[in-house]
Amino acid sequence: MTRHSLFCAAALWMVASAAHAAPLALTKVTIIDGAGGAPVPNGVIVMDQGRITAIGPAASVSIPRGARVVEKPGKYVIPGLMDANLHLHLNLDVDTLLRFRGRYADIIVEAAQLALKTGQTTVFDTWGPYPDLRAARARINAGKDVGARIYFAGNIIGFDGPVSDDFRDEYKGVLRADTITYLNRRWTQGTGRELLWDTADEVERRVSSYAAKDVDFLKYASNGHKDYSFMAFSQGAQNAIVKAGHGAGKTVQAHVHSLEGIQAAMDAGADILTHCDITPERTITPAIIQEMVAKKVSCSALPVTKAYQESQSKKLEPIYANSRINIKNLIDGGVNVMLSTDAGIQHPLPAKTPEKPEVDVRTKIGDGHFFALIGLEQLGVDPMKALQTATINVARGYKLDKDFGTLEAGKYADMVVLDADPLAAARNYRAIHLVIKAGELVDISKLPTAPLISNQKSLAPEPSPAP
Ligand SMILES: [Zn+2]
Repeated sequence: MTRHSLFCAAALWMVASAAHAAPLALTKVTIIDGAGGAPVPNGVIVMDQGRITAIGPAASVSIPRGARVVEKPGKYVIPGLMDANLHLHLNLDVDTLLRFRGRYADIIVEAAQLALKTGQTTVFDTWGPYPDLRAARARINAGKDVGARIYFAGNIIGFDGPVSDDFRDEYKGVLRADTITYLNRRWTQGTGRELLWDTADEVERRVSSYAAKDVDFLKYASNGHKDYSFMAFSQGAQNAIVKAGHGAGKTVQAHVHSLEGIQAAMDAGADILTHCDITPERTITPAIIQEMVAKKVSCSALPVTKAYQESQSKKLEPIYANSRINIKNLIDGGVNVMLSTDAGIQHPLPAKTPEKPEVDVRTKIGDGHFFALIGLEQLGVDPMKALQTATINVARGYKLDKDFGTLEAGKYADMVVLDADPLAAARNYRAIHLVIKAGELVDISKLPTAPLISNQKSLAPEPSPAP
């Protein structure tokens, strides 16, 4: 090699290293790759350009020259956690909707940061305002903001927006008509409740144009929201929605709350049954479970702890009792169960006094998934299977398992380093030492970087006047 070409090689190397950091090698860790096998002690994971390039016992993996080596003896590594069904902008109180109008994307980024801080590297938002989810996703994907990777559906096709009979009808008469229209349109994007009255052909046309938008997947109403087992779309319309979604190359999931709703969605060819465990009338039958397995239909589920179930109202307690029976039966029956929480940022200031104080709250982002994992442990679910509900099962359900869900060479280098073994006790998922997303160490101490909601504090008491 001539002097000249050596110089050029060095210059090229400098350009390349400016574009991305040196490879990272995590060493001396116990690897729980999430594929189901035994943990690997004294393991090494090498990552470069966002992906895992080599993984295995120290003796079998060579560390590239120039790699940054991070030694973590005594620590456990698991795949980055995922949430199959949350709502980053869950704050539907009037106060938040009005005070932060124009800043919903900031709220979504804040929620994605709280998720990442607590080990969730990828989240699936199944109901939220399209323009704001899209903006937040772009900011995170471009590296402008740190946060969990977002995939989103936008509206639940067939449901109206936040100020409607499907969600907060009590705001009618409180907010002005223009504000209500603004809020509802931000969510529905032309796919609201009026579609329930359309013919299947018309539904297919409307959903095709929605599916052409920049959404990652579709979610539609097989059942109602407030009125649980009420059937929403007809069978013909459900068939049309799934056809339109698949035609656009997207997975399609159905919001279900009854056995009839589950059956209709499966008959339509839906990929995912959202919160299929929440069936108030009766538990899911063995025949339906077998059909889910045969058709490879995934279920997102909302596991709760016994304490949460017991903290619920008279109306909701039996629903969670059914849910816990369903989840155990679904997992034992071999269904691809995906952990989900419905979580968003829990507003720290009280709005109204609940009937009973809730404990182990499922819908609090940054906490809900930990409680869900403890809920699975309480059901006696095998610890590896429980981990898989929050990793590979989610990736598989969303057809992203080539890239995510296990620690394997070629997949994204998304992982969580824990101080204690999560397979020994589910509470150890909280023992987060490090979060790595796309091969980069995340500075979790800085998250959230610009909080709007999670940092709210009650006003200090007024000083008493001087005597
Ligand atoms: Zn839903």
